[in-house]
Amino acid sequence: MKNTVQEAARSLPVYDRADVLVVGGGSAGTAAALAAARQGARTILLERYGYLGGLASGGQVAFLPKMGDGNSTPVGGIMEEWLECLARQDGLLAPPPEDIGREDPQALAKWSLCVGMVRGGKVCHSAAFDPELLKVVLAELLAKAGVITYHHCLVCDAVMEDEVPQGVIMETKEGRCAILADRIIDATGDGDLLPYTKTAYEEEDDPAYRNSMVSEIFRVKDCDNMRYGRWRQANPGEFGARMKELQELVGYQAMVINSYRNDVGWINNFIAGKESYSIRDVSETEFMVKRSIPVAIDFLRQNIPGYENCRLLDIATFGVRHSRRVKGVHRITHKELMAGTVFSDTIYATSCFSNGDCLSESLEYCVPYGSLIPEATDNLLVAGRCFSSDLVAHSCLNLIPYCVMTGQAAGLAAAMSLQQKVQPRHLPVEQLQAALKAQGVVLPKGL
Ligand SMILES: Cc1cc2nc3c(=O)[nH]c(=O)nc-3n(C[C@H](O)[C@H](O)[C@H](O)COP(=O)(O)OP(=O)(O)OC[C@H]3O[C@@H](n4cnc5c(N)ncnc54)[C@H](O)[C@@H]3O)c2cc1C
Repeated sequence: MKNTVQEAARSLPVYDRADVLVVGGGSAGTAAALAAARQGARTILLERYGYLGGLASGGQVAFLPKMGDGNSTPVGGIMEEWLECLARQDGLLAPPPEDIGREDPQALAKWSLCVGMVRGGKVCHSAAFDPELLKVVLAELLAKAGVITYHHCLVCDAVMEDEVPQGVIMETKEGRCAILADRIIDATGDGDLLPYTKTAYEEEDDPAYRNSMVSEIFRVKDCDNMRYGRWRQANPGEFGARMKELQELVGYQAMVINSYRNDVGWINNFIAGKESYSIRDVSETEFMVKRSIPVAIDFLRQNIPGYENCRLLDIATFGVRHSRRVKGVHRITHKELMAGTVFSDTIYATSCFSNGDCLSESLEYCVPYGSLIPEATDNLLVAGRCFSSDLVAHSCLNLIPYCVMTGQAAGLAAAMSLQQKVQPRHLPVEQLQAALKAQGVVLPKGL
């Protein structure tokens, strides 16, 4: 058998042309497209699936951890728009503003029944939401902003001229075609455009860190999360032992987490040793998790109070916490985060969410604009989990709120850089920060 075949060169139709082209419609890509369109750019978003939200919707990662505790810089911008829209349509479980920062036993008892809503002895700004409703909310927001969204378009190459990206090539049911653009934002999560555009990136991982694990979440219905929460709180040792038993049974680390509804639970999981874009690894994970679901549900029914009658509700798409990270103008390091560094080009700041890889709940993280700009490639920005950082900083910063806020900054910067006829790397950062503030993003004092 031959090891390679030759693909014939061919001319491709140009399907459309954008000022700002966003590839990937996850939490980062949708925010980028919204920000660019609201800034007046003709904005096209390409998404390989038939819905928006990426991991936050189809991946069922429907939990927003600590986004503030009453003392830290509050989150703002498009992240708050998500919360308002989800709450209006009854798809959100979140402590109300008057409870945030409370330390009294009554408030703690109420909110600590939900995983992650009490941190460092305080009720925090956090939320669980309906991932299906997020698809609806994002479609509505993007349509209103005038974003042209093309679904079922898998981007599979870049159009390059003198080593500068001018557009992308995509596979569609209409055939292979191109979209040309003045600015392109890689919001594919996996940094798919980085190899296509010959942009430098890193991808090393380490199973010691949370973000090196892949997953396939599934949800169950007909459970009672309040009863589960009371049991978990009263019996932490037993809870740990049961989760360990479940792990041994299914062959991967799993955790039962309440959702935005009392009767729906999500089974988050962490699967080590799998490459996020290896055909074999991804396929094996898809099969392994699906085949383990009946075993897991049987275990939950027998062993977890509140889950005696649970049944399968649905299964998420394959979940990747980490893959390629661009080599950017600024590579965020864990050391910088632990020092509480406020970068002069900060585009977003929020409370630290201690997840085992980052240990101080009292910190506030800042994200610099330079982490969204490739070291050398022009016309291109990244948004979301392919930002520039070391592996540990990535594990601290890959959460949905960060992805949304990097998206908002990248989309705005792409549109502004076109208006000012400069490359994104030369955009005066004070102007970007002022525009972000005008859109409701709250930056640390002094910026
Ligand atoms: C199991 C799991 C649990 C997690 N837990 C939490 C949590 O509790 N809270 C939290 O805040 N974060 C959590 N995270 C992290 C968080 O979900 C992600 O980092 C974040 O959602 C990433 O957003 P993104 O927009 O960068 O990427 P994604 O959500 O991956 O979006 C990328 C989008 O691009 C599309 N796409 C990809 N490639 C192409 C292509 N070639 N062409 C066209 N479209 C393409 C995808 O379909 C997708 O819509 C978790 C992640 C996982 C996997």
